[in-house]
Amino acid sequence: MDVRDNFRKSVLDLAPYAVSGHPAKIKLNQNESPFDIPESLKKEIIDEFVCKSWNRYPEVFSVALPQRLSEIHGIPADSFIVANGSNELIYTVAISIVKEGTEVLIPQPTFYFFEKISKILGANIKKVYADKKLNFEEEEILETARNMRRGLVIIGSPNNPTGKSISRGLIVELLKSTGAIVLLDEAYIEFSDKPSAVELVKSNKNLVILRTFSKAYSLAGLRMGYLVAHPETAFEILKVKIPFTVNPLSEFTALKLLEHRELFADRVKFLKEQRAWMTSRLRALEGVRVIDSDANFFLFSTPLPAAKIFEELLERQSVLVRDVSSYPMLEKYLRVNAGSEEESEYFVNSMQKCLERLSV
Ligand code: PMP
Repeated sequence: MDVRDNFRKSVLDLAPYAVSGHPAKIKLNQNESPFDIPESLKKEIIDEFVCKSWNRYPEVFSVALPQRLSEIHGIPADSFIVANGSNELIYTVAISIVKEGTEVLIPQPTFYFFEKISKILGANIKKVYADKKLNFEEEEILETARNMRRGLVIIGSPNNPTGKSISRGLIVELLKSTGAIVLLDEAYIEFSDKPSAVELVKSNKNLVILRTFSKAYSLAGLRMGYLVAHPETAFEILKVKIPFTVNPLSEFTALKLLEHRELFADRVKFLKEQRAWMTSRLRALEGVRVIDSDANFFLFSTPLPAAKIFEELLERQSVLVRDVSSYPMLEKYLRVNAGSEEESEYFVNSMQKCLERLSV
């Protein structure tokens, strides 16, 4: 007997998820914030948290954070579902909608997680590839979605790893013309010049928006993400969600961070400036191509194989970026996120040295 015979074929066919865990001096590979939560604030959070009961279960589903988010966004509290990172919600939404053969439209290239859960569930995946400049092919996306009577359309905006945003006009058109649910992943929206589509959930039952505390709110390590949808839609999705996945410390921390929104807004402003600085410095290097981005990261390519640049940066300079060359359309590309002033400068100098050494 082969134990593997018990597994879904879609699972056996999957590659394991791996992010290179190389230790490096400069880490710019996971789109994290380079800035931790200030130590005084961490201490204040822990001190207050010590007084809570750790022996009791928390609420089955968070109540306090949806309430606060509701006040901030001006959207009813039952529109929000809080989870242990937005990855959990990608799974929850997909499980509640996708079965064998369900059509799932995923514009490419994008965050692999969307395709992974769709594959596991046996979806009929439809792909629309970006144009040569890696912008969304909006007309084709709309045409494909228009032919979907039901199912799921998953769009990251700003999109990882291209950094491109979808236009507001397309979102509105999509919602009007497709029978599918539109899952809009706004993990990087704070870094975009374009506004969030969050308020559209009030009048569109087929829109689900994902947000996270992992990027602009510097909280990747504590895991906190949330979903916003029309209350009727959120009601169905909540039935599928695993109870108690939200750690009370993470929820408590998120509530505290929302009291310091100006700090994170300043950090976002700074990181956007860093992104612009890194982009222009890289563009000045011979043979380097940079893709304009709306997020806290961007793609770049050189005439050399991406794996070579990746290795050279890591081994000689201890700089870790993301080699995205296995993504469709990105054969020559790497992705790097905006770092602190020191990190960004170190990265740009390392790239210069690396290209000189390999004498492009
Ligand atoms: N969506 C996108 C587009 C992402 O890039 C990421 C993180 N890489 C996530 C969701 C997951 O974020 P979280 O930490 O909230 O699970």
